[in-house]
Amino acid sequence: MKKAVIEQLVLGMVGTNTWLIKNKENGELLIVDPADESARIEEKINRMGGKPVAILLTHGHFDHMLAADDLRDEYGIPVIACAAEQQVLTDAMKNLSGSWASAHVLLADQWVCDGKKLDLAGFSIEVFHTPGHTAGSCCYYLPEEEVLFSGDTLFAQSVGRTDFPTGSGADMQASVKRLLKELPETTRVCPGHNEETTIGYEKRYNPFA
Ligand SMILES: [Zn+2]
Repeated sequence: MKKAVIEQLVLGMVGTNTWLIKNKENGELLIVDPADESARIEEKINRMGGKPVAILLTHGHFDHMLAADDLRDEYGIPVIACAAEQQVLTDAMKNLSGSWASAHVLLADQWVCDGKKLDLAGFSIEVFHTPGHTAGSCCYYLPEEEVLFSGDTLFAQSVGRTDFPTGSGADMQASVKRLLKELPETTRVCPGHNEETTIGYEKRYNPFA
């Protein structure tokens, strides 16, 4: 029986998806990629009636984390990111804020690695380290909810750019192949930009598959 209520906000200068995952059994809530405009995220959380317990980052680009500091302070909750993403998060040129917005860096409170199992908000979450878009990009998989938060790794019929600092086309190819091979076809995919999809759909129609 699924217990997640998943809501999407599109925020910031490049239209990034912020995902809110509320456990309807205990009211706890996770924030995936707090892109920008923390007031709008808080308003949405209030409307959902959830109690935030953690912030999950799929990677360190500024357009996925500009609201993280505000929300961390507001709710007193940890920011979680892939250990391999520390260099991007803490370097304003590598996280693109220095050239696209105003310089901004961020330190996570908890660094995770591939295969890490997190137990947050009453959900079990598996971390997939999926380098390619950036060296420390990762995806969060909730097997019981059959949903993957894929960041800028896997998009509907596309994948993330690999020409930014620490990006790699070869790594991206391997990461996308792995997701499509290891996850069930029915898995709902909630990406960092644009509309959601499924693993089964991407297996058939993603040109990078
Ligand atoms: Zn990105």
